Amino acid sequence: MTPGLAPLSIRTRLTLWYSGILLCILIVISLLGYSVLRWNLVQDLDASLLTVAQVLRDTSLTTERAEAETVLRELLGPEFYDKFFQLLDPEGRLAPWSWPRGSQALRLSPSARANAARGLKTFETVRSDGSDDVRLLTMPIIRGGRVAQIVQVGMSLYRARSALRRYLDTLVILIPLGVALAAVGGAIIARTAFRPVDEMALAARRITAEDLGQRISLRGTGDELDRLAATLNGMLARLAAAFTEMRRFAADAAHELRTPLTALKGGIEVSLRAARSAEEYRQVLASSLEEVERLIRLAEDLLLLSRSTAGPETRRGPVDLEPLLLDVFDVGLRLAQGTGVSVRINDMTPATVRGDAAALRRAVLNLVENAVKYTPAGGKVELSLTSGDGHASLAVQDTGIGITPADQNRVFEPFMRLDAARARESGGTGLGLAIARAIVLAHGGTLALESQPGAGSRFIVRLPLA
Ligand code: ADP
Repeated sequence: MTPGLAPLSIRTRLTLWYSGILLCILIVISLLGYSVLRWNLVQDLDASLLTVAQVLRDTSLTTERAEAETVLRELLGPEFYDKFFQLLDPEGRLAPWSWPRGSQALRLSPSARANAARGLKTFETVRSDGSDDVRLLTMPIIRGGRVAQIVQVGMSLYRARSALRRYLDTLVILIPLGVALAAVGGAIIARTAFRPVDEMALAARRITAEDLGQRISLRGTGDELDRLAATLNGMLARLAAAFTEMRRFAADAAHELRTPLTALKGGIEVSLRAARSAEEYRQVLASSLEEVERLIRLAEDLLLLSRSTAGPETRRGPVDLEPLLLDVFDVGLRLAQGTGVSVRINDMTPATVRGDAAALRRAVLNLVENAVKYTPAGGKVELSLTSGDGHASLAVQDTGIGITPADQNRVFEPFMRLDAARARESGGTGLGLAIARAIVLAHGGTLALESQPGAGSRFIVRLPLA
């Protein structure tokens, strides 16, 4: 783009294109019209020359020149006046008269003469010196089987040429005028067509992050612009939902942070109120440490969740799921120690997926931790790894407390604890399932839940095979 030259608006570009194309079409049509008109004029001229020549042939012009003129004038009527003609003998010598009187002898071209000798007529355009070009018919008059005379009838091309020139002059005025009118019309149409777009832009500009509830109004025409408005509205609705979710998340996170901080502050304040024994200080410090650990866990989980939601910056190497499951199984065994819950592996078929091994391990571990946590003593936790249908399925099944159908979607939301007291006791941050789901989704997989309250739950991670 030339520096300093603003890019043309769509409206201007459309108008320019439209006018340019119209100009080309008009020029082509005019040129075609010009050729057709010229051809028609010459055809008419030739037909009229032929009529005169035939009359001349059929009239025996042996009389005096003056008488012959009178005869021809009567015979030809108006055709007589704008033509000139002459009679020649077969050798091309001028006969005693021609019309108009004293007119210069028309040249008999060698080809016309040769044609005449063969009994053929010739139409040609000849350049006559000084005046306009002449359309000339040379026709032999055959009597008794041989060429008795040659008749030449000519007519100036002046009238035909000036008709063509007038046609061109008219076009030179009409084409620019037509294109100019079309450009004005095109510009008005383009402006009208784009007005709704301007209105949409204005409406979109009014909508801010604080005001995502507003929508662009549809005109009800169902056309492209209405579809665009509907698409933008859909995007706004998704943005609004995302913003609400973000606000809720920030509020929940603040709330989660405040609880241990308040506990911490309370403990420290109480211990500062009076002199305490070393044992009492030790107790306060120990419980403070617990709260600090809780805060660290929460901060780490928040970080992990935000990284997992950020998506595919994760390393994408091949991940063998078998050793991963064995590793998580080991951790599960340790977690279950002393709880009366048995952990075991049911099925295990080798499967490799693409992704981040550490993240995937984290996701499965969260499920196993929950399974052990929410299964009472005497219960079982079973892990399995199967593959088929282009996918690997990693299932974590427990015989724990289960989740009601109504809660099955909610448990994946951040900070969602179905029984706050119970969960807080068990020390979960409420982010475990949200993190697991974010990791699985970032790997192009799904995390499904089947559960029966009181009977147990089954979490299934499905990942596309590498
Ligand atoms: P938490 O840190 O509280 O475990 P999660 O996001 O891992 O957070 O789980 C959210 C909630 O889902 C838990 O508080 C619990 O109520 C419920 N939940 C998760 N896993 C199970 C399970 N295997 N059985 C029953 N309830 C579960």
